[in-house]
Parts: sequence; structure tokens; C-alpha cells
Amino acid sequence: MIQLYQPLNFLGMIYREIKQSLIDIEAMFTILARSPEIRDRPGAPALEMKGGTVRFEDVRFSYDPEREILKGVSFEVPAGRTVAIVGPSGAGKSTISRLLYRFYDISAGRILVDGQDVREVSQASLRAAIGMVPQDTVLFNDTLGYNIRYGRAGASDEEVARAAELAQIDGFVRRTPKGYATEVGERGLKLSGGEKQRVAIARTILKDPPILILDEATSALDSHTEREIQDALERVSRGRTTLVIAHRLSTVVGADEIIVLQHGRIAERGTHGELMEREGLYHSMWERQREAERAIETLKAAGEVD
Ligand code: ATP
Repeated sequence: MIQLYQPLNFLGMIYREIKQSLIDIEAMFTILARSPEIRDRPGAPALEMKGGTVRFEDVRFSYDPEREILKGVSFEVPAGRTVAIVGPSGAGKSTISRLLYRFYDISAGRILVDGQDVREVSQASLRAAIGMVPQDTVLFNDTLGYNIRYGRAGASDEEVARAAELAQIDGFVRRTPKGYATEVGERGLKLSGGEKQRVAIARTILKDPPILILDEATSALDSHTEREIQDALERVSRGRTTLVIAHRLSTVVGADEIIVLQHGRIAERGTHGELMEREGLYHSMWERQREAERAIETLKAAGEVD
């Protein structure tokens, strides 16, 4: 009975938490994805936002005890600035975004927001301060309008339309049969990866958080869509503390600082210009990307790919 009771009790807790936080999609993912041991400390105060400075101090983390993923990572995103994390696949880039959101607790070091350790403040207040545009956005089986308004349930129709415009999804909405009332998902229209990401950007614009995490999609988007998404992201990140997890290099050129992560350690850091001059890992990643782009152009010219 006890064996049954525990999971049921946990499910009940999840259900109550989902009901309470339906307004906040990231909170829902958090509840589903987090390990049960991530709990608020009794009486944990709310995060006090001052400007939104994010600081990682010698952060160590492993999903499994045998394999350390982050091996002492330190960096700061000053309030209102943009820091991009790049590096080979599996280096630990997305893990950094999950830790800032406190999906997991770290094994050593500290993660601070405006000087407050993320483990010491309430999870609800931490997550209210952070907007996440994830790699793969989950849409509800509901209307386009509902899916955008999810960022802030009380938003007016005008605010939803304005957010859609800033996220550059308004043209797409207009072309659908019933506009914002169009059903999406299994019951209706299927959205492409790029369209879903723009819905996520519109949600984030409505949420209006001081800190943003942009986890770029790994899947290739066509260059026109990519440009549109980059423009939308640039607009939404203006004036907010932004951490970009970049899986392609073209998005990071304008960042205030680029951190090159390799095997869980910072291998290089600097601006795009500084890193290119250094002719190290970042430079060779660019060269490789250029070669890949050139190869695709050649194939396109030969009519072998679209
Ligand atoms: P990519 O560019 O391919 O998305 P990344 O640098 O973002 O890679 P992460 O997603 O941070 O990499 O993953 C870092 C390492 O941690 C990988 O080796 C991955 O297999 C491992 N990992 C990620 N999530 C988990 C998990 N939930 N449990 C165990 N290992 C994980």
C-alpha cells in the first residue's frame, strides 16, 4: 500500500502544482522534468530582482555520479547584457540553461541571480524572473491564440497581436483559416519547428521577464526562417539579461561575450573579433561551419538538394 501511495501522492502533488501554475509553461516543464529532490528550502524568500545579473561561480555538475558534465564553470552575464555559450555537441551548453532554471542542483560552486543563490530563493520567484525559449516548444491542442496567451493569461487581444507581430508570427496567423482561433496540434494545423519557436518567442514577450534563456534549435531551419527568428530574438533580448545557448555560430556574432565550452570547461572566451583573432577552437569551428555551408551551396548549384 505504501508502495502505491507514494507515487500516487507524488502524482497528486504534480497535478496540484500544474493547476496552480498553468499560467507558466516553463513551470510545468520544470515539474515534469525535475528530480523530486529539488524543493524550496522551508521559508525560502522570493528572489529580489535588482537588474538581473547572472553569475556562475566554479559550477560543477553531473547527471550521473560517474560522469562530470560541468567541471568548474565561471562566468557572469551583467544586467541587460548578452552572453552566448558555444561549443561542440555534448559539451554541456544546454545543461547550463537547465541549471540556471534550477531543473537540477549543482554539486559544487554557486549560481547567483543578483547576488542570491538560486537554491536559497523560492523556485516560483526564480522561474517568474526567467523566460525560456526552448529548443523544442510544446504546443497545446488548442487555438493559436491560446498558445500565445500562455505567456500571460490576462493579456488582452491587442497585447497578443502585438507580441505575435514582434515575434514575426503574425503573417503566419493571418494565413491560417481562422486566425488566432485556428486549432493547432493533433486536432488541427501542424506547425513547423520555426513557427513553434516563434510562438514561444511571442509567449516570452507577453511574460516580459528580466532574464532570458534562448536555447537555439539544433535542427536546421531554412535561412529565411532563421533570419526572421534571429530578428525576433534580437528584439526580445534588447535590454534583458540574455543567455544564448547557440548551436549555430551565426547567432552569436553580436554577443557581449562568447564562451566556448569544451568537455565541460571554458576553453576560450571573448568577443567574436577577439576569438577570431586568436585562431583557436572558435576560429576553427567557424572555418568548419563555412566549409559545410560552401558544400551545401555546391550541392544546391548541382540541383542535388533544395
Ligand atoms: P548539443 O549541442 O548537442 O545540444 P550540449 O552542449 O547542449 O549539446 P548538453 O545537452 O548540455 O550538451 O549535454 C551534455 C552531456 O550531458 C551530454 O553528454 C549528454 O548526453 C548528457 N546529458 C544531457 N542530459 C542528460 C540527462 N538528463 N541525463 C544524463 N545525461 C544527460
